[in-house]
Amino acid sequence: MNLVSSVSQQAMQQPEKVAYHFMGKDTTYGEFEYTVGRFAQGLQDLGVEKGDHVAFLLGNTPHYLIALYATMRLGATAIPINPIYTADEISYILHNGDVKAVIALDLLLPLVEKGVQAFPQIQSFIVCETTPTIGEQVAALSDDVKAKIHLFSQVVLKAQTSLPVVEVTEDDTAIILYTSGTTGSPKGAMLTHGNVYSNARDVAKYLEFRAEDRIIATLPVFHVFALTVVVNAPLLSGATILLAPRFSPIEIFALAKEQQATVFAGVPTMYNFLYQLPDSNVEDFSTIRLAISGGASLPVALLHNFEQKFNVRVSEGYGLSEASPVTCFNPLDRDRKAGSIGTSICNVENKVVDINGVEVPVGEVGELIVRGPNVMKGYYKMPEETEMAIRDGWLYTGDLAKMDEEGYFYIVDRKKDMIIVGGYNVYPREVEEVLFAHPNIVEAAVVGFPDPNLGEAVHAYIVLKDATATTSEEILAYCAEHIAKYKIPKVIEFLDELPKNTTGKILRRSLKEKV
Ligand code: AMP
Repeated sequence: MNLVSSVSQQAMQQPEKVAYHFMGKDTTYGEFEYTVGRFAQGLQDLGVEKGDHVAFLLGNTPHYLIALYATMRLGATAIPINPIYTADEISYILHNGDVKAVIALDLLLPLVEKGVQAFPQIQSFIVCETTPTIGEQVAALSDDVKAKIHLFSQVVLKAQTSLPVVEVTEDDTAIILYTSGTTGSPKGAMLTHGNVYSNARDVAKYLEFRAEDRIIATLPVFHVFALTVVVNAPLLSGATILLAPRFSPIEIFALAKEQQATVFAGVPTMYNFLYQLPDSNVEDFSTIRLAISGGASLPVALLHNFEQKFNVRVSEGYGLSEASPVTCFNPLDRDRKAGSIGTSICNVENKVVDINGVEVPVGEVGELIVRGPNVMKGYYKMPEETEMAIRDGWLYTGDLAKMDEEGYFYIVDRKKDMIIVGGYNVYPREVEEVLFAHPNIVEAAVVGFPDPNLGEAVHAYIVLKDATATTSEEILAYCAEHIAKYKIPKVIEFLDELPKNTTGKILRRSLKEKV
């Protein structure tokens, strides 16, 4: 079994069931399966073969779902890329990833045009149509450029009706995700068909996804959290995906109400925006049975406030690209523990170890390591980095964690983000949790900076709700009530907002550079 065959099975069993909803239009499993087949055939007609790499520069539109399943059906490998990356970042991946075809948003046509010239080895560029004039824009290009550019709808229309039949094994690479991982420049994590299928299946089981579920997909689809939690797991379950082209709190609440959504998944900053929206109330999420948080730590104060305001259970989980991604979630049949990423999901083992790889006692901090069918094959063309990341079958996550006596894990922080003040370890998360609980603080992030006496000191970046209501002296006094002296920020700086990436994670690196 793999993702493609499971979704084909859904289409056989419930062809009329809605697979996804996008901008007022429903598409059934039967229609989805048919379009995926034709697009796969169209890709094959353009020369894409088993083992070829196809890059996606796509947003949250149906094109992504069709392109992903068609590519996997052909036994080719999908490489989703953040479409707002710079030309340099995209070029790096196209080169390093040996890409043969690109499927891009029409807004990126100027970049595609340049790409045709800069990447002669790329055979085809397929452009999605979300604006009505895109056909004319392509028609106006020079003949040699135009020869390599195809419109998405035309690839579907021109395809012969027969579906390509390609043998795909569990170990074939389905997806390569570029991630900066624990160290250095971006590396392509190779996720096999076995990896992505098992993780989607195990997440769906653990979070009790059902065919009746209607799951909001506002997380950017190029990110691994979205890939498994709001795309693959819902499709395997025969559920309905509610595709949201962008994240806007007002639109998310409207979509949830109008479409009777049952599951929401987001990163902590999304939870913060939803919570902070003036006039939002319990009615806004009245149909939601489960809210899923992941990608970064969810501040405990925000978790409590959110659950109370919207009367919804929030389950925090944890994952990383290299593990397809999910390894832990707070279970639905037992207590959810605030501040915890929950317990190991089905079939996945998590363990906390010391620097020698030996498991540490309950409650002690060490590095989180992971083993299971979801762990990547390795980094593309980087055997040394792969050997560093996977040792004795265990993936070293680079995250510091501890486990309690009931098997719940707690992420303490990323190993590389730890600040050492006068020999004492300060975990940014601990300080941020305290700051977050302050009634006038909307967002906070702390980073270390060199200090001549202490080695490092703590610098806090803070966004206030009411900029005139709190001074830095008041915040320092508040910190002194809650944390040890060496953890108290030496510098407090107020910002209008914190820098974030498109997934919504706070960009700690750019704050460090700022310091
Ligand atoms: P990525 O590969 O982009 O998905 O990033 C994975 C990293 O995100 C992990 O190694 C963690 O550092 C972080 N992360 C994911 N989920 C959580 C969580 N619930 N709490 C804290 N950090 C998290």
